[in-house]
Amino acid sequence: MLNQKMLEALNTQINKEYWSAYFYLSMSANFAHKGLEGFASWFEMQFKEEQLHAEMFVKYIVSRNGKIELKPIDGVRQDWDTLLDAFEDTLSHEQKVTASINELYTLAGKEKDYATQSFLKRFIDEQIEEEENAQLLIDKLKLIGDNGLGIYLLDKEVATRKTIAV
Ligand code: MG
Repeated sequence: MLNQKMLEALNTQINKEYWSAYFYLSMSANFAHKGLEGFASWFEMQFKEEQLHAEMFVKYIVSRNGKIELKPIDGVRQDWDTLLDAFEDTLSHEQKVTASINELYTLAGKEKDYATQSFLKRFIDEQIEEEENAQLLIDKLKLIGDNGLGIYLLDKEVATRKTIAV
């Protein structure tokens, strides 16, 4: 069974994962509206992945006989003028998520909850990929600048993303 501190922290993480899902859904809709279907689809994959993360936390808490507490989801930003702005926002968000996962891992260690540490390992690995993906796209977008053809081609490239990482 999870102790109270760990349970509260894990329940808070469910909310953060759903907030992330909401954040990426907003980006997906924003770029769909701007005619960038590839990026809309890329952010939709992110949206689905974050929902999956939330569900993984829910299932884990239930498996440890903990009580789920679903908190209200705060509002998210609705508009991004440029892709670079959106991916810089994505990177800084993912850095915050990394810090949050690390804090959970530290707390689990303090509470001698080794099962939770083991559960969190996949999220620690996942965050390496999340930050790397955002940084790669920032680099490419900086290279392209406001070249319309470049944006068009990158939109085609990101449209090929079909999988969800976790
Ligand atoms: Mg996540």
